[in-house]
Amino acid sequence: MSDCLYHAPMSDPVSKDGTIAVVGASLAGLRAAEEIRHEGHTGPVIIIGEEIHAPYDRPPLSKQVLSGKWGPERIHHHAPDALDTLGLEFRLGRRATALDTETRTLTCNDGTEIAYDGLVVSTGASTRWLSGTEAIPHVWTLRTLDDCLGIKADLAAGGDSPRLIVIGAGFIGSEVAATCQGIGAQVIMLEAHHTPLARVLGDQMGQMCADLHRANGMDLRCSVRVDHLESDPGGPDPVTVVLDDGTRLVADAVVVGIGVEPCVDWLGDSGLTVDDGVRCDESLFAADRVVAAGDVARWTLPSTGQSVRVEHWTNAAEAGAHAARNLLAGTAAATPYGPVPFFWSDQYATKIQMIGLPHGDDEVVVVSGSGEEGKMIALYRSGDRLGAVLTLSQPAKLMGYRPLLAAGASFDEALAHARS
Ligand SMILES: Cc1cc2nc3c(=O)[nH]c(=O)nc-3n(C[C@H](O)[C@H](O)[C@H](O)COP(=O)(O)OP(=O)(O)OC[C@H]3O[C@@H](n4cnc5c(N)ncnc54)[C@H](O)[C@@H]3O)c2cc1C
Repeated sequence: MSDCLYHAPMSDPVSKDGTIAVVGASLAGLRAAEEIRHEGHTGPVIIIGEEIHAPYDRPPLSKQVLSGKWGPERIHHHAPDALDTLGLEFRLGRRATALDTETRTLTCNDGTEIAYDGLVVSTGASTRWLSGTEAIPHVWTLRTLDDCLGIKADLAAGGDSPRLIVIGAGFIGSEVAATCQGIGAQVIMLEAHHTPLARVLGDQMGQMCADLHRANGMDLRCSVRVDHLESDPGGPDPVTVVLDDGTRLVADAVVVGIGVEPCVDWLGDSGLTVDDGVRCDESLFAADRVVAAGDVARWTLPSTGQSVRVEHWTNAAEAGAHAARNLLAGTAAATPYGPVPFFWSDQYATKIQMIGLPHGDDEVVVVSGSGEEGKMIALYRSGDRLGAVLTLSQPAKLMGYRPLLAAGASFDEALAHARS
């Protein structure tokens, strides 16, 4: 990935009564629309969303909704009447198919065209599939509420102790495996690498994640390769996963959790620069009168000049609001977007949390606790600086490192903080 700076062209402020289009009706798009109203914009705000549902929260899909603890109605960001008060025009179940930044026009799959004065691109990301498995019954990825309900239905059809195979032990795969085991499923989790999450967290913390699974009785199999899937819908073994050593594993459902791709397929010929996401400058401007936010946006981090794309809930919420303010203000008054990235993942009874941006090859120093104890603090060294902090079930302590990361503290300062 190229780290060269992206310079978006100058953009004038959007007039108060101008039309703002938001493509993507999820967290980043909704936060952008809320901020647009909060800033006093009186013109139309049109939100185009491919899903038929009003904006909802995705994290509970692999946690409370999947386990049945929450019904789907609990995950909507707003009650319908609260959404009404924002005066937003939702066009749901519709997909933007083309963008012309010269004429400032969007085209949708129902043939409608929308002329805009300002545009927020917040189309997020969609799941990767194992090649050739998209159409196999009872094989899922998990991104949407409908995916979650489909997985639940397959597990319910599998009886009291349904069999689930999870392919990929990343954060989503791990949460799905842990949650489903928690409701009585027999789960096998397959991982192609020697440890889960090694590319993101490094080997040492990847091993800690593997230990966490095994300590909770998960059947985690690392360094295994899936050769192909076989299907027998209606039969006693609806799906068979065949490994490249010939092992055959049968299941009532399979969830593939092998990562996501930014949703940029509709932006060909748009004039936007697309490079593993929509390229943006430090202020989230992608082009004249166009900003991007959330999982789809790749922007230049002001503190380091790094080009990053972040797939976390907090980033989508913060970037949506920030991008909207900058869009209204125009480039001359725009402010850089420099968050301290944060994410969490709930697995078994453990809350994994991280702030900062780790690199798989960073040195990692565990300053307290351990994976076995289920409580731990680990610091990532990036050169002579603190790069990131990973904790297990230590939320208050994690936040104590936030000011250090925001200030670009040295690794020695972080060690001194840990000792204090
Ligand atoms: C199961 C699950 C669990 C998660 N758990 C956590 C967690 O514990 N912690 C954490 O930090 N993060 C978590 N995340 C990640 C977090 O939910 C995402 O970072 C966040 O949803 C990103 O928001 P977004 O608005 O950028 O994109 P998305 O939520 O992906 O929304 C984009 C929307 O745009 C729509 N769209 C795409 N293309 C078009 C188009 N051409 N026209 C119209 N609409 C379009 C999509 O259908 C989608 O509704 C989780 C994600 C998932 C799926």
